[in-house]
Parts: sequence; C-alpha cells; structure tokens
Amino acid sequence: MPICWLISTEGSHAPIPLPHLQPVTLGRGPETTIRDKKCSRHQVELRADCNKGYVKVKQLGANPTCVESVVVGKGAEVKMEAGQRLRIVNQLYPYTVQFKEDPSGDQPAAKRPRDETAAAGDADDGREASRVKVAKQANHAPASGRESAASTNEKPGIWSNGLKATMQDPKMQVYKDDKVVVIKDKYPKARYHWLVLPWESIPNMKALRGGEHCDLLRHMQQVGERMVSQCKDAPPLRFRSGYHAIPSMSHIHLHVISQDFDSPALKNKKHWNSFTTDYFLESQDVIHMLEKTGKVTVKEGTSELLKLPLRCHVCHKELATIPSLKEHLKTHLPV
Ligand code: AMP
Ligand code: ZN
Repeated sequence: MPICWLISTEGSHAPIPLPHLQPVTLGRGPETTIRDKKCSRHQVELRADCNKGYVKVKQLGANPTCVESVVVGKGAEVKMEAGQRLRIVNQLYPYTVQFKEDPSGDQPAAKRPRDETAAAGDADDGREASRVKVAKQANHAPASGRESAASTNEKPGIWSNGLKATMQDPKMQVYKDDKVVVIKDKYPKARYHWLVLPWESIPNMKALRGGEHCDLLRHMQQVGERMVSQCKDAPPLRFRSGYHAIPSMSHIHLHVISQDFDSPALKNKKHWNSFTTDYFLESQDVIHMLEKTGKVTVKEGTSELLKLPLRCHVCHKELATIPSLKEHLKTHLPV
C-alpha cells in the first residue's frame, strides 16, 4: 500500500507521515515550525486514505484553511489529492501530499520538494461525495494526436509522475517541436535549469534501445544546446547537459543546467553530488554508449556517489556544509 507524506513546499521541515486512516492534528508548533498566532495549535485534522489516494482536511481552527482555492471552513472537510495545495491558514504555509508506492519506508527527501501530479482517478461513492467537498484539480490536458506520457497507464498522483503532468502544461513549456518539449525545472538547482523530455513515453534510460532511440537522444541534446545558445547569460555562464544515473522522476529527461548552482532549491548533499559527480552522465557519453552497446547501463555503486563529501566543482576544495559551499561558490561567479 502506498504511504502518505505531508510535504512543506517551502521546505520548512521534514515530511510528516500521515498513516492510513489515522487522524493527525497539526497547527502552530514545533512540528510545523509555524509560530503565527493566527494559526491554532489544532488548526487542521488530516486523515489520509492511502488506498484511494486522498487526504481529508478538516479545519478545526477559526481562521481559514484552504485546499487550492476552496476554503474549508470551521468544522468542515475538504478532500485533497496529490498535486493539490493545502494552505494551513490565511493562504499561508503551503503543503502538498505524496503517496509513495515504495513500502520500504524510504522517506521522501525532506529538502527536495517534489511536485505531485494529476489527481488520482478516485472512484468515491456518493455518500462520501455528499459529505465532502472536493477541490478542483488543475487541468493538464494531454497533447492530442500523438502518443504522450499522459496517455499511458501510469498511476496518477504518484509524485514520481510529476514531470508527465508538467510537460503537458502549455504554461510550463518553453520550447516544443514534434519530438520533444522543454520545461523549466520546477525546483531549479541553478540560475538556469531546463529539462528536455521526449513526447514518446520512455520511462527511463533502461528502456532505451540503440536501434530506436539514438536519433532522439541526439535531438534532445541539440535542443538543449539551442536553449543554451539563446540564453543571454551564456557566456559567461557555462552549462552541462546530462542525465542522472538513477533518476527519481519517471519519464526520461535531459537536464540542461548552468554551472553556477546559485539557487535556493539546491539544499543538500544529494542535490549537489547528483550534478557534480559521475552520477551526472553527460548526454554525449550516454549517446555514445547507446550507439556502441545498444543500451545504457549504470555502474554498480553509483548511488554511493551521492554520499561523497561536498567538493567544489571548479577548484575541488572540500567544504563542510551546504551554506559554506554556497558561500564558496560565490567566489567563482560567474562560472
Ligand atoms: P531526476 O529525476 O533526479 O533526474 O530529477 C528530476 C528533476 O525534476 C529535479 O531536478 C526536480 O527538481 C524536477 N521536478 C520535480 N517535479 C517537477 C515538476 N512537476 N515539474 C518540473 N520539474 C520537476
Ligand atoms: Zn572552488
């Protein structure tokens, strides 16, 4: 069964587990780090239904709690699905929920907020529907007339499917052609951070086949290069384009990222090492491997690279903490 986590989208604290069908009361206090007196200590009661993929949000406090644009109202309940935003009080303190399939107890990275995807196709019964208001979901219409990720049977509401929804949203698309779309990374780890995704539904690098996909990967790289060539800050900013050896998000995506790493969304060692060690596979190398061997394989032990000490990617100096690394990176600007 999936497990549910309440995620502060501002990264104010670690995700809070919402055990299946157990009421969890939250409000002002150390758990949420909310100190605002307008927020009651018992502002909301949350009850996750991990089978159905939603959380019932009951407002207990006097000031308004919202799910998307719907005000819950004192004593009332609103159903919240993955991809929707809860604001605990007075339009402040935003949260999302994640239903994570993996029962291993692997907590989603606290400081790596992720987007949720389209609403779960929740077959609720009439009795429930009459008691509980349902907040409206943003509509991510799939592109018509082509095989798109959104047309596959991927489970909606699973956080790792977030890119599939975003890539279909015209507001998020910064470039598209008949083969690929480019979106801005929602949590950019540098001043410029784009993702190039094919329309074709390819879950990850393991699914790549030399005979079929070399041209597509070359095209993705070219599109990335075109984004860089049109960037007003390149040069002096340098860019790299490549793939995470073990991506966390489904649907293959090429990262095109400036090398300043000057971004508040870069928050932890995992983020840093995923872009600055061999965990980041250069697009060119991936294409060569696919051409030569017909598939893309990742070396054993690659995940260990994420645990390496923090080391500056320019001068290789080792830094003890992310804040000290960020201070140090300023000395190299513009990279
Ligand atoms: P990875 O799967 O590790 O290669 O990286 C996935 C990337 O997708 C990360 O850089 C996230 O910041 C980014 N991301 C996560 N959710 C979304 C979303 N809904 N829209 C755009 N980018 C996203
Ligand atoms: Zn340095």
